[in-house]
Amino acid sequence: MEEKEKTQLLEKEYDVIVVGGGPAGLTASIRCRNHHLSTLLIEGRKLGGQLNQLYPTKYILDYSSYPEIRAGYLADLMIHHARYKEVPMIEETIVESIDMDGKFFHVKTDKGDVKAKAIILAIGMGLFEPMTLGIPGEKEFRDRGVYYAVPNMDIYRGQNILVVGGGDTAVENAIGLSRVAKVTLIHRRENLRAIESNLEILEKSLVEVVTSTELKEIRGDDNLRSVILHNNKDGTNREMEFDAVVINIGFSPDLSLVDNADVKNDGGHIIVTGPNMHTNVPGIFACGDIVEYEGKNRQVHPAAGEGVTASEEAYKFIKSPYWVEKTGNGVVVDKEKCIACGACMAVCPDVLEADEARKSQVKEGADLTLPCVDTAIEACPRRAIERT
Ligand code: NAP
Repeated sequence: MEEKEKTQLLEKEYDVIVVGGGPAGLTASIRCRNHHLSTLLIEGRKLGGQLNQLYPTKYILDYSSYPEIRAGYLADLMIHHARYKEVPMIEETIVESIDMDGKFFHVKTDKGDVKAKAIILAIGMGLFEPMTLGIPGEKEFRDRGVYYAVPNMDIYRGQNILVVGGGDTAVENAIGLSRVAKVTLIHRRENLRAIESNLEILEKSLVEVVTSTELKEIRGDDNLRSVILHNNKDGTNREMEFDAVVINIGFSPDLSLVDNADVKNDGGHIIVTGPNMHTNVPGIFACGDIVEYEGKNRQVHPAAGEGVTASEEAYKFIKSPYWVEKTGNGVVVDKEKCIACGACMAVCPDVLEADEARKSQVKEGADLTLPCVDTAIEACPRRAIERT
């Protein structure tokens, strides 16, 4: 997309801005369009999220309706669906901050600023960085034999590859690579933590699995030549020759945007207030890998499901007409218009309070004749409070 076109898209106002273009964000934006919400999707890197950025040629083996499907192809289908629903999508645009000014969320990006009534954060692991081992040779051979993702399996054809890690990423990459290369998978403990169905495929594959083993050093000259492996059970070291090393030991998330927007997190993930994907900030919803709650599953299906929930909640937050309710004798709060800015509650705390959705409501039994009621009506930026 031309820079000019991006700027034009950023100049408009939207109902919803979805930050992140992986399965969660794409599904959320598709669902928003079903509700006829004007929706802009902003992606920091490439659309498709981890499916496209980390392992486009890897097979996803557990996405129902496709017994196996290339991750990149699955991502393309989702992107195509979002295009079909006419979601404007901007790639390679970094969201730097999100601020509420009482009426709109102001979203500052490195390509310009844009406004929306609600935000859905679907930022995966943020602009994630792979975890590194910090061993000799790792930095030196990065991208020259040491890799943290497998964007194209074919470049490894006929090679001798070492994969490090015991999670689903390492196991799936090892299985995928074993179709084109000789693969050894090492894991620091005796048991791998990947899902049973992946372990079953691993067992049947040609991957050589070596447990209780750690990578201690990477050696080479112009190219990576060998590694030092340490057996942490018997304490022995051995040198083995490889053409490439793929390190898949997790990702460290970048939560600077989340911190900046005052969205509650645990240093690694956004904490949602419940299964409705609300964050602590009214009007900001979250979904996908960035979200944490009890029983969280980091897979494509739940990410997409959470995207649907987040968009439904954004819709209710913005539009739902049944929110207009009479809440007291003489004062009405129109919750469709209310954007939970808190201005009315600040000037008239004796009468107005926040309800569960953090919208304004009239306190039960409040004295509606108090002069502060008029001040609160005056203070409301969207004229959401009225006298009847
Ligand atoms: P992960 O599940 O966190 O696994 C990381 C692996 O690296 C673990 O086995 C861990 O060992 C090992 N490790 C961590 N630090 C290490 C170190 N310093 N030295 C050696 N080994 C180290 O990460 P992931 O595999 O990237 O998966 C991330 C999430 O995405 C998971 O929830 C996963 O289930 C999900 N995912 C799902 C699928 C799928 O469903 N198809 C595919 C990919 C990812 P320990 O086991 O000893 O801690």
